[in-house]
Amino acid sequence: MNAAARELVRVVDLARAGVIFSPRNGAVCPGCGATRLRAYKTMPWSGSVRIRYHKCGNPECILCAIGEGIKSLQEEL
Ligand SMILES: [Zn+2]
Repeated sequence: MNAAARELVRVVDLARAGVIFSPRNGAVCPGCGATRLRAYKTMPWSGSVRIRYHKCGNPECILCAIGEGIKSLQEEL
């Protein structure tokens, strides 16, 4: 596997596993580092965790290019 393919797999794995949703930066794209990604789906709180699904709107970003969603996890502190 070449470096670009490895990087793609790494970024997609992160997007699917979920990034931490921060009160300051919202969800941060694992592909390009964009902050406050727009959520297209917000789940109700489940215990102390809330899951959101985002899309990156940066046309230069690989996750945007392949249309991959980004999951985020917000934990109640
Ligand atoms: Zn991105």
